[in-house]
Amino acid sequence: MPTRKEGPVMSSPTQKIAFIGLGIMGSPMAVHLANAGYAVTGFDLSPRGVQPLVEAGGQAASSAAEAVADADVVCVMVPDSPDVKAVLTSDGGVFASAKPGALIIDFSSIRPDITAELARQAVDLGFRYLDAPVSGGEAGAKNAALSIMVGGSGEDFETAKPIFDVVGKTIVHVGPNGSGQTVKAANQLIVAANIQALAEAVVFLEAYGVDTKAALEVLGGGLAGSKVLDQKKENMLSRSFEPGFRIELHHKDMGIVTSAAREAGVAVPLGSLVAQLVGSARAVGDGGLDHSALLRGVERLSGLTASASDPGES
Ligand code: NAD
Repeated sequence: MPTRKEGPVMSSPTQKIAFIGLGIMGSPMAVHLANAGYAVTGFDLSPRGVQPLVEAGGQAASSAAEAVADADVVCVMVPDSPDVKAVLTSDGGVFASAKPGALIIDFSSIRPDITAELARQAVDLGFRYLDAPVSGGEAGAKNAALSIMVGGSGEDFETAKPIFDVVGKTIVHVGPNGSGQTVKAANQLIVAANIQALAEAVVFLEAYGVDTKAALEVLGGGLAGSKVLDQKKENMLSRSFEPGFRIELHHKDMGIVTSAAREAGVAVPLGSLVAQLVGSARAVGDGGLDHSALLRGVERLSGLTASASDPGES
């Protein structure tokens, strides 16, 4: 195991980290790494994203090439497969600009097949590559309590483990490159189905005039309890749907899981249904809202007027 204090090992806090993609998730993760003593240089297409990192002692770069030029570890946290491809393979991207031997850690949730291909390219070019998608939402990123599902070699996993320990709590090496993304796809299936069930329960309870807050409190203590219930009940009770995790990102993830299931020849009937409901929410204009806004779809299907996305607006 590499130690944190001796020599130029990959995972010492003296290692230089480039962090590309400083949005809802990437920004607090990069801040934690800077606070842990790593030299972190961040880049985001939106200059606003880099501010918290700079306040935590990190550096702002004006391009991905500048961010990665001197980095031992390159972290990526961008929305979708084409974004990761652009960050890695474009002119001035990571493959063209990073140091040989650099360890690339893709925290984004993207297609497993594209991940496997990007990992192959990275290794051919002399880089090391881990897919390390996360779960735990914005709260998990802010509290450094993410679950991290890691695909790649055992050796690279061990090298990256001290970095994962800074941003996460449950960190598991699940197999070769692409496996982390496959596990994340399963995660998103489970989360979407949970949110949909919670939303239906809330609308059902309200139809009977039950004290919904009290109902969710007792439900949370039994078998119906879940992290989804704990983290999303307030959004639903207050009809406050500011993201968090945007419906359009969950739509992307439901596309990943349904198409990967089809490729594998396995049936995910509940997943397919929830994918349709997530797609419908996006199609009616709710894509920018938190995924707890699946509640609005249940209201629409029930002949109710969908609640305002922000109680302040209504
Ligand atoms: P976000 O949209 O808030 O942040 C993404 C950031 O990437 C943006 O700031 C954007 O400007 C930047 N970006 C995009 N393309 C770029 C490029 N080529 N170069 C540099 N920066 C670029 O999204 P997010 O919510 O932080 O999600 C990021 C990833 O994490 C997604 O794959 C998402 O599915 C996953 N995820 C999100 C959550 C959540 O709760 N938000 C939870 C788990 C996983």
